[in-house]
Order: sequence, then structure tokens, then C-alpha cells
Amino acid sequence: MDKKDIVSFGYEELLLEMERIGEKPFRGKQIYSWLHEKLAEEFSQMTNLSVALREKLEAMYEIKKISMAARRISKKDPTEKFLFELGDGSMIESVLMKYDYGNSVCISSQVGCRMGCRFCASAIGGFERNLTPSEMLGQIYRIQKLTGERVSNVVVMGTGEPLDNYDNFLKFVKMLSDSHGLHISQRNITASTCGIVPNIRRLAKEGLQITLALSLHASNQEKREELMPIAKKYELSEVMAACDYYFKETGRRPTFEYSLVKGVNDGAKDVKELVSLLLERNCHLNLIPVNPVKERDFERPDRKNALALKNKLEKNGINVTIRRERGSDIDGACGQLRRRYADAKKEK
Ligand code: SF4
Repeated sequence: MDKKDIVSFGYEELLLEMERIGEKPFRGKQIYSWLHEKLAEEFSQMTNLSVALREKLEAMYEIKKISMAARRISKKDPTEKFLFELGDGSMIESVLMKYDYGNSVCISSQVGCRMGCRFCASAIGGFERNLTPSEMLGQIYRIQKLTGERVSNVVVMGTGEPLDNYDNFLKFVKMLSDSHGLHISQRNITASTCGIVPNIRRLAKEGLQITLALSLHASNQEKREELMPIAKKYELSEVMAACDYYFKETGRRPTFEYSLVKGVNDGAKDVKELVSLLLERNCHLNLIPVNPVKERDFERPDRKNALALKNKLEKNGINVTIRRERGSDIDGACGQLRRRYADAKKEK
């Protein structure tokens, strides 16, 4: 019999599950606290449970292992990148970024990604599988344990498209913000999507307070299609309407992410189109000078050009920032460390 993934049980679910196996519901409360507050990694650590119950849990359930395969600490800024190995040998990446306002962790939501965005290293190897809620939570838990640092913000912007793993992602958000667990405010959780329209609309109705970050990356349909295959399925106008709907339903202002690629989407025409696309919207635009990826021929615009572009947008009334570059010396772009690791394995 396959053991059940106990960390993926929500609070109420775990209470019911304990009742189902003949235990008192308060045992569920104790176990949830061990798993999601004290971040226990073994049943043997749950010292307020009887030995008999720990043995029973051991026989029926598993606490999925997330082992650290590599850890890179940036010399340039307070950023660390982690490569984790999952129980089935899959590799995923997570990043810890320390800011004045607290620690932020960027997690992966899938192993690989099927969205195929051209500027993205995660897309190169294709999609392997979805992550479970426990594997998403586990990245944050592991980083807290490894570094001793409390995580206050979470961004789901690593490898994978969270809205392509909708149910697991939704459960993850609910568990991460549950008062019986790490209790991270939903306002401190951001999910990045490449624009899966039906799921943006569905998410808008879930009663959550998370921030939606839309990967825009181009100012018109044609260019967006060139950079992001998903744009062929969902037109830019539909994507923008879904973001408006998300704002209307949740009151949360969306962020638009725009990777700046030299000579591709950083010209005067792009600025003009961006202004007409965003001016009437209550939103924030985040410019991200693209991290060069070994397998792609995209170039990053120099800092001066990026600043000039930002100034032009600002003058035209757009609320815009340039994302501060983090961890460029430690394979900062999502998917890069994982790919490098896979390449090194192949060469062996
Ligand atoms: S940018 Fe995001 S959605 Fe696009 S391929 Fe990369 S991981 Fe997938």
C-alpha cells in the first residue's frame, strides 16, 4: 500500500483523517502543528504522541523528503539559491532573497514547465510533473530550517505555471496562510502566471487576497505570440480583461511583469503601446532586464537603456519599477541552476 502524503492534508482534512483511523481529532491538531509550525521532518520527533501512534503514522503516511542537492550563496547581494531533490529524483529550484522588510522565498510549482516561453530556462527541458502542496510548502519549510530565517513573503515565480497546477496551488496558498501553520498573510503571497485566462477568472472567485503577477513581456499580440506560445491560445485583450476582473473581484492591484530583451521589446514603439495598454489601469509594471540564458541568444539591455525606458513610461503616467537584479552570480534566472546540474550529470 502506498503511504499517503500527510503534509498535503489541510488542517480540517487532517482532523477528519485522524478520526477516520480511530484517533481523537485533537491528535490531528497536534500532528498539524508538528508538520506546519514546528516543521518536523520525522514522526519520531513528535514527542507528545505515544510511541504506538507514531509507529501507526509511520506505517500509513509519509513525510515527503526534500533534500538539498546544491546551495549557492551570492557574493553580490543577500540571495541564496537552492537546488532540491524530491523523493522521485526530480530536481527543483527555490531562491531566498533577504530584504529590509523581511525574507522572501521564490518557489517552483512544477517540475519543468509546458508553457515554452522563449526567454525562460525552465521551458527548455519541457514539463515533467506537477508539484504537490507538500512539495511547494516543503521548499519554504526546508529553507527556514536550513537558514534559521523566518520567511515572511512568498512568490510563486520559479519553475512552472501555478495556474496549470491549479488545485494543488490553491491548496498550497490556503495551507501557507492557515493560522495553524506558518500563517503567512495572503497579501504577502504573489503568484506569477503567463496568462491562463479561465484560471485567472476562477482564482478571482476563490476569496483570496494574493497578488497576481501577469507575465506580459510584450505590448502587442503579435510580439507576445513570438515570445510566449500561450499567447496563441489566449489573446492579449482576453488576458487583460481577466486581470481587470481579478482586480474587480479581489481589490488586489495586479502587477505586470515585463522581461526586457535588447532589441526585441525595448523600443520606442513598445513604450507607446505599453502606455496605451496600461494607462487606464490601476496596476504596477515591473521591468526585468532579462538574465542571459546559455541556451538562448537573448541579450539584456544595459542599465542606462532600461532606466531611459522606465523614465519614459513614468513620464506617461505608468507606475513602474525596474526589478533589482538578484543573484546573477548564482544562476539567478529561474531554471538555470537546475539545467546546469542536469548538463553536468549528462557529461559525467
Ligand atoms: S516563464 Fe514561467 S510559464 Fe513561461 S516557461 Fe518559464 S516557468 Fe513556464
